[in-house]
Amino acid sequence: MSRLVIASNRLPVSIQRNDSEMTVTPSAGGLATGLKSYHKSNDSVWIGWPGIDAETNSEENQVIELLKKEHCLPLFLDESLIDNYYHGFSNETLWPLFHYFTEYTIFKKSYWEAYKKVNEMFAESIIANAEEGDQVWVHDYQLLLLPHILKERRPDLHIGFFLHIPFPSYEVFRILPWREEIITGMLGADLIGFHTYDYARHFISSVKRLLGYDVEFNNISLESRHVYIDVFPMGIDYAKFQDKAIEIQSKPIQDRSKEHQDIDRFLMEKPGRKLILSIDRLDYTKGIPERIKAYRQFLIDHPEYKENVSLLMLTVPSRVDVDQYQHLRSEVEELVGSINGEFGSLSWNPIIYFYRSLPFDNLLELYSSADIALLTPLRDGMNLVAKEYIASKINHKGVLILSEMAGATKELGEAIAVNPNNIQDVADAIYKALIIDVKDQAASITAMQKRLKRYDVHKWASEFISTLEKTQQKQAEKQSRKVSPKLLKAIKEKFNAARNKVLFLDYDGTLQRFFGNPEDAKPDKELITLLKSLKNDENSKIVIISGRDKTTINEWFGEMGITLIAEHGAWIKYANEDWKERIKRSATWKDNIRPVLESYVDRTPGSLIEEKTHSLVWHYRKADIELGALRALEFKTDLSDLVTNQELEILEGSKVIEIKETGINKGNAALEYLVDTDFDFMLAIGDDWTDEYLFKELPDTALTFKVGTDRSAAKYFVENHKSVRSLLKSLIE
Ligand code: UDP
Repeated sequence: MSRLVIASNRLPVSIQRNDSEMTVTPSAGGLATGLKSYHKSNDSVWIGWPGIDAETNSEENQVIELLKKEHCLPLFLDESLIDNYYHGFSNETLWPLFHYFTEYTIFKKSYWEAYKKVNEMFAESIIANAEEGDQVWVHDYQLLLLPHILKERRPDLHIGFFLHIPFPSYEVFRILPWREEIITGMLGADLIGFHTYDYARHFISSVKRLLGYDVEFNNISLESRHVYIDVFPMGIDYAKFQDKAIEIQSKPIQDRSKEHQDIDRFLMEKPGRKLILSIDRLDYTKGIPERIKAYRQFLIDHPEYKENVSLLMLTVPSRVDVDQYQHLRSEVEELVGSINGEFGSLSWNPIIYFYRSLPFDNLLELYSSADIALLTPLRDGMNLVAKEYIASKINHKGVLILSEMAGATKELGEAIAVNPNNIQDVADAIYKALIIDVKDQAASITAMQKRLKRYDVHKWASEFISTLEKTQQKQAEKQSRKVSPKLLKAIKEKFNAARNKVLFLDYDGTLQRFFGNPEDAKPDKELITLLKSLKNDENSKIVIISGRDKTTINEWFGEMGITLIAEHGAWIKYANEDWKERIKRSATWKDNIRPVLESYVDRTPGSLIEEKTHSLVWHYRKADIELGALRALEFKTDLSDLVTNQELEILEGSKVIEIKETGINKGNAALEYLVDTDFDFMLAIGDDWTDEYLFKELPDTALTFKVGTDRSAAKYFVENHKSVRSLLKSLIE
């Protein structure tokens, strides 16, 4: 059974240095909990930064030994790397950019260099510790380059990647100077997981626009493999929160903690008094100043609530050395002070403010006592606090006000959703939450609890791992069709033994790569030399079989003395003969269809029309990738009405749609060619579905190859035009 290697910036344990002794404390975080059963079983290992800088070799060894017991392996990073890779690129470049705070985003080459270096270091450590065929699960925005580095060096590893923060819209992501590297880095994984569908579609849009890969649903086709994208909204340890809430609530008042008694006293001081709770790290993404302003607006709109409601804000210190965070702290504390000064009294503080973190038990006391949770981040990958609050509501009383910019909003549809930038909207939501009757509260909470219980953090982890396993199977099926060295040897032997050989070769995407402008795809010197060498083998016949117009094909290959088939089989030129038209038909149909194509060219900048003797073609490779795909759908619907009864058919190729007379295709053209000769070696290579006719019509003994991993009738696949050339070259070497 394969092992699981987990990689994340921080390990699931923390190390404390007490005098000369070191101790390890396990982390209670969601990730550590969710992965516990995988991590502790099957000899798995978790690789990450231990959070301390070992001062001596002996200290380093001590840390290594301590962590070994926890199945963890430390990656030591010196201060400069931590400054540039972690505080720098991760937290001052990626964090603000991915949360749409472009104004806070810093681009520095030194940050980028350190980020690359640390990702490399992770790769080295994983490679040294991973066995053949192991699963590797990489976590979060600090390690976006790692999947690609690993895949390049260890293609045997099955790599999953999960992003715990939002993936921004392409319009924001494109700002990043290293955008191609980042996205390529992520695509090294076999499976990429996001919290929400929005993040997934933003990622897919960036992949299409920046790298031009084809995407079908959640499946990205790279040249030699597929990358699957899926949504796994991270859950919480539901049972832990429920059980703790039950324990806390069932304690007699006198046995409760001091803090809990304080809350009880506060609530009982005035009948009907309500407590609103907000908990977050002090981060600019959390919308804390906006929330305070909304609360102020509520106090202005509803003076009847003075003395009757307080907002308890727990803000947890975070990234305290960064300027932005220090300014934010001052701003928040000023706002809190000014509201307490403006509305408070000797016996009442409208805002109760804590700047610290609390132990788990105290956190639960807050969750279970608060009447309302007010969580209004401006952007948040998920927001676990929202889920924890709902899970802790064992009496089903409580209301959640949640920002629609938090990932959790997708699963917590019964909460009151607000736009955190709309101060009045949030103020109104507070009032609404205060007057919701208990029956409605119970109905909402019950519905949300049911969902959170079912898809908890254990389920989240197991779903990810089982999807990664399914992905592995799919990849293995595809790879079994790849041309292996053993198969290549067998093909070569067959080729050498044969006396009468024919090679059918498609052109664009097969012998040559795609260019934005089809006219730029002229055969290069290397290709001409290759074709000449193939032709020199006197037992071999070379047939270029293309969808291209005959004029271009003739210009490129007319003098080479090989057979040419153009326009998908409409024209054929046997070696050293003239062109022959395989069908003859009046082309008046074009006058009806051409204006439709022209209207699509007008409305799709970058697209163009090509006219061939038996077809009209609309090319949209240079159009905006999404507009092109949309227009192509629209175009096909329009055409399907027009082509009926006209003996026309629609062929869809790679970023082209062709309207062509029926009755001709590459398959029947090839069969016509084969009629008079008994070939003992047949080979065909093509890249798009117009070549499928060829693969299907050729006899079973033919060796057929599809360029790319998409579904095909061909027996094998090759990666790209370069692999096609090297396959052909190896035949004659
Ligand atoms: N939390 C904590 N101690 C505190 C306050 C919060 O351990 O004093 C935890 C809280 O229970 C939650 C996490 O911190 O699990 C915050 O996660 P969230 O997704 O809400 O925000 P993030 O900090 O990851 O942006």
